[in-house]
Amino acid sequence: MPATVHTCARCEKAAPGRYFLLGGQICNTCYSSLRRNPATCPSCSETRVLAYINDRGDVSCAECAGQTRRFACSTCGSERFLTGTHCGHCRLNQRLQELLGNDGSIPPPLANLRGYLTTAPMDPRSIVRWLRREEIDRTLRQMGTGNLPIAHATIDQLPPGPRARYFRRLLIEAETLPPIPVLLHELNIFVDTNAAQLPREHAPILRRFHRWVVLPQLHQRYRDNGNDITIGVFTNQRSATLARARFLSWISEQGTTLADLDQSTLDYYLAHVNARVPINQLVGWATRSRLADELDTHPQPIGLAPSTYSENELWEHTHRLLEAYTVELAVRIIGLFALIYAQPLGHSVRLTRNDVNVHGHSLTVAFGSTPVELAEPVAELLRQHLGAPARRGFATGTSRWLFEGIMPGEHLSPAYARLRLSQNGIRVRHARTTRLDLLSAQQQRRLSRTRSASPSTPRNNDGLAAEESGRATLRCVTDEYFPCR
Ligand SMILES: [Zn+2]
Ligand SMILES: [Zn+2]
Ligand SMILES: [Zn+2]
Repeated sequence: MPATVHTCARCEKAAPGRYFLLGGQICNTCYSSLRRNPATCPSCSETRVLAYINDRGDVSCAECAGQTRRFACSTCGSERFLTGTHCGHCRLNQRLQELLGNDGSIPPPLANLRGYLTTAPMDPRSIVRWLRREEIDRTLRQMGTGNLPIAHATIDQLPPGPRARYFRRLLIEAETLPPIPVLLHELNIFVDTNAAQLPREHAPILRRFHRWVVLPQLHQRYRDNGNDITIGVFTNQRSATLARARFLSWISEQGTTLADLDQSTLDYYLAHVNARVPINQLVGWATRSRLADELDTHPQPIGLAPSTYSENELWEHTHRLLEAYTVELAVRIIGLFALIYAQPLGHSVRLTRNDVNVHGHSLTVAFGSTPVELAEPVAELLRQHLGAPARRGFATGTSRWLFEGIMPGEHLSPAYARLRLSQNGIRVRHARTTRLDLLSAQQQRRLSRTRSASPSTPRNNDGLAAEESGRATLRCVTDEYFPCR
């Protein structure tokens, strides 16, 4: 039977409605909105659906208005995150029981996962939706019954990509799987898969190049970062691997091998591809390792130095970013770290909460080994950031990262920060180069002053901000950070 049209007691629009709430007939839209947005009841202070009028004429929960609690979860009575007859938490518990089994039978690593998910500070209904994904559902069920090992090897079997990566990171965060450098692990699998598709004589070349050339460089560079590589390095290495695989398979298509490759065939290939660098590295290594003849790769000259901003542009960007309220706070702070302190994005996103220290009114950040006191407008933004509630991700409690990312246990992606800043007209590399040039010029001036000045010369012109006193509120903080005196 179609609902009759009434004037809604909440939005006052004429609309069909079959619910009698808030002292009148209300429309379907208002009903859903009330149910979706429980709030603190002014009478009992519980988080409830506020859809009733109590005997003093105030809006309240059903109980305080002496009505039946029609919204309450039929298991626990909660009115939060409602879905059907249950609350989100009961729905999640039920889902996890279906997937992983009962308390007594659940293997300890999966019990960790259940604990992690049931205490995650986010809407449990979105976790339920995630658990419904076919590959997540199937993998967890089979790990629960022992048909698949609770191991990284199981995740390796899923189609590679961000979904599988998210799943793996979550299992690591929940202490279901041991920590590993996730991107490096994925890169190794990627190289192996590509090598397996190459002709027999070339498959070992791709693997050996990766093992003996690429991996040692990555290990050396990322030894201090829990041994994982950044997403940018991962993406670059993946395309370099593809370029090398294409090259090796092209050689096979010419009816020859890397060992017999001659200069004119190589020149022909190099003249027709964009990806010269990965090929040059491979050929150089093959020549040195006597896996190929003496071949010349004609390495290209190094490109022009990166462009810079003018000093004015640098300050304009700084002031604009200080007031760019539509940009995420984390991204603004990271941008200011680049503009003022010449910090590379890759370093800023890896700062941890332990790198920040509060001493009374001053706030310091350990960019390098020496803590740097932040200039006040930036310090204030960082205080706001530190005081903000937990982000939407799965992470329980506070992340160790200063700028938490979307992936469980990950910091904010530098690529994302770069994208957001460039959307706001800021090119981080230009900003850093300009700032570094300014700092070094400043340092030169100071050195020459120190040499020529008499002991009584007042040093009231210290720092960039003082020279920019007309408009800059920022104090130069680089003395400790660039200890070149
Ligand atoms: Zn309405
Ligand atoms: Zn109440
Ligand atoms: Zn419940």
